[in-house]
Amino acid sequence: MTKRFDGSLDMRRAIDRLARRLPEPLEDLAWISYNYLWSWTPGGRDLFTSIDAHRFMLAGQNPVRFLWNQAERDLLRAATDEDLLERLSEVAQKMDAELQRPGQRVQAGGPVAFFCAEFGVHSSLPVYSGGLGVLAGDILKEVSDQALDVVGVGLLYRRGYLHQRMNLSGWQHEYWTEINTDQLPAVRVRGADGAPLRVTVPVWDGELAAHVWLVNVGRTPLYLLDAELAENNPLERWVSARLYEGSREIRLAQYALLGIGGVRALDAMGIAPGLFHLNEGHPALASLEIASKTSSELSGDRLGLEKLLEIGRDRFAFTTHTPVPAGNETYEADQFFSVLGRAIDQMGLSREEVSAVSRVDPTSTSEPLGFSPLAIRCSRSTNAVSKRHEEVAREMWRPLFPGVDVADVPITHVTNAVHLPTWMSPTMRELLTKFFGADWERHADDPGLWSHVDEIPDVDLWRARCDMRLELVELIRRDIGVDRLARGEEIAYAEAAFDAFDPTHLTVGFARRLATYKRLDLLFYDPERLRRIIDEDKGTQFIVAGKAHPLDDEAKNVARNMFTLKRGLDVPNRLVFLEDYDLRVAPRLVAGCDVWLNLPRPPLEASGTSGMKAALNGGLNLSVLDGWWGEGYNGQNGWAIDGSVDDDTEAQDERDARALYDLLENEVKPLFFTRDANGIPIGWLARTRASLRSLGPKFCANRMVDDYVERIYRSGH
Ligand SMILES: *Cc1c(COP(=O)(O)O)cnc(C)c1O
Repeated sequence: MTKRFDGSLDMRRAIDRLARRLPEPLEDLAWISYNYLWSWTPGGRDLFTSIDAHRFMLAGQNPVRFLWNQAERDLLRAATDEDLLERLSEVAQKMDAELQRPGQRVQAGGPVAFFCAEFGVHSSLPVYSGGLGVLAGDILKEVSDQALDVVGVGLLYRRGYLHQRMNLSGWQHEYWTEINTDQLPAVRVRGADGAPLRVTVPVWDGELAAHVWLVNVGRTPLYLLDAELAENNPLERWVSARLYEGSREIRLAQYALLGIGGVRALDAMGIAPGLFHLNEGHPALASLEIASKTSSELSGDRLGLEKLLEIGRDRFAFTTHTPVPAGNETYEADQFFSVLGRAIDQMGLSREEVSAVSRVDPTSTSEPLGFSPLAIRCSRSTNAVSKRHEEVAREMWRPLFPGVDVADVPITHVTNAVHLPTWMSPTMRELLTKFFGADWERHADDPGLWSHVDEIPDVDLWRARCDMRLELVELIRRDIGVDRLARGEEIAYAEAAFDAFDPTHLTVGFARRLATYKRLDLLFYDPERLRRIIDEDKGTQFIVAGKAHPLDDEAKNVARNMFTLKRGLDVPNRLVFLEDYDLRVAPRLVAGCDVWLNLPRPPLEASGTSGMKAALNGGLNLSVLDGWWGEGYNGQNGWAIDGSVDDDTEAQDERDARALYDLLENEVKPLFFTRDANGIPIGWLARTRASLRSLGPKFCANRMVDDYVERIYRSGH
């Protein structure tokens, strides 16, 4: 058998090392800890929390770190816990069977290499910021569930994405913490000589060197490049320090490391992808690396870059996520080549040609360079992430296809979706399993399956919803209290948080990146009316969360205004801001809210996914008809605000805010508080069922990955 130096042996060694630390009966925990499959296998998380829930939380829910730091005496005690050992053996068997299952080729040519600047797999691997990363993580998990041969390629940001602290006035401060790679469920990939595999990419005037880490996401390997090496200078090391670094030059270096370094790393490991899937434009430089390889393989006359990209086209697919020109980063040619010029030269490509393919108008000499034009030109297919986004993207990128009618611009769509076992709470999953049957998750995109929600008795469905709300209320009470203490609020105010929120109140959530187009400010458009909604009649409570990009002062202002208004409303325990929104809190937030708000300015929400997560848990969406909701809303499964585009943004904000308040006052609250003799909101539950039935099969990642396989990966073959 030939040995493959793709990290699997290194993974084996790391697992053995950890296993030796564990009492024999717990040894399986070692390999379980090194594969994130535990996080979506029922009972997986409980294995660690039943050893020590508090310490597991303190270890950032990272099982490797947790086990390395757990006192031997506690591990020995756990090793005698018969119930735990039985559950351990069950989870181990389930995971092992899953990992041993025969796989399927997606592509005759080799695995699909899924490139992305961020991956949101789990809160203990902080290399994501928001929706794009979480989607990428969900895709890796779903391809694992479907046993497809895909590998992920990204960057290991040593300081991850920002953490958020608000000061007393509501102004966001950021800080970063360094991850300890020794205790990450990741291993450094080593080559045949036993030394770490090393790839280099020319950046600025030097050679940026990087190592490669392997993370197991179920059956899917995720490779992360890391420039934190002694041989790099401090500036070079900073390249893999932080996600979405503010400096444009650092970002260019990051994209070179991802695109060019990623291709080189796969090559060095002997992995020959049949298809490169560029998720968003950041990794598009991969196409130049392939073009350069093609050029050196072909003898005879030197071909132009356009011709080379054409030869490579069959191996690239591009997914665009950004419906505004401003969201597609562009760089002045001088800046671009000051960072990447040497890389381009060494690849044997012409700077003029690289400029031409990176501009919307290739004949321009002044237009800045962008990765989206390059990605569209190098790929055999480009897809948007919702139906509406497809229309917007065709219009936006039409200038790339001179003389082509907007209807014929070759951009299709695969609507986003979410990984069901990650996002459906255990409470809901257990309830549905009773009515859907065992292993139903494997065919969760079958609408027939979801018709069984009609068989769930009202009382059971309502109890599940109340349990999920209660879990959220417990999280809020604990976290808001700590947030207030950390801000330096009065102790009494911090303590008041410990009985904030009421587990019986209508609970409304808004959580996502704080970007201005998401219009959190609409909620506070008429503070007095909001106060009445919160205060009058039966109880209603609001929870808001989200991080602003460090350089986005406008978004930070929105948050600060909210703090000011919040104070004026004097409903401190009914309207709370939860700091540092991330994958730790997101699952409970989306599960516990009765109503999930999304208020983007149309048509700027390419898709949105958090509403899908809420829907899978029986939450109801109240959203602008933009992105995915345009496809999801059917009149019975939630509430909608007009999604048409209005150039008079002020008038639009006023109209949309009014629509929001009207819906909350006249429809949402009355429906939630109309109860039968047993206190059950029958009408509300009818809508909940309509939501589960219509949205469940359509917005689970099963459907999305099927679409990618059928329409993107396998099309044209
Ligand atoms: C799902 C998710 C998002 C995306 O939310 P949208 O409402 O789609 O923008 C962002 N952050 C986290 C942590 C998520 O889980």
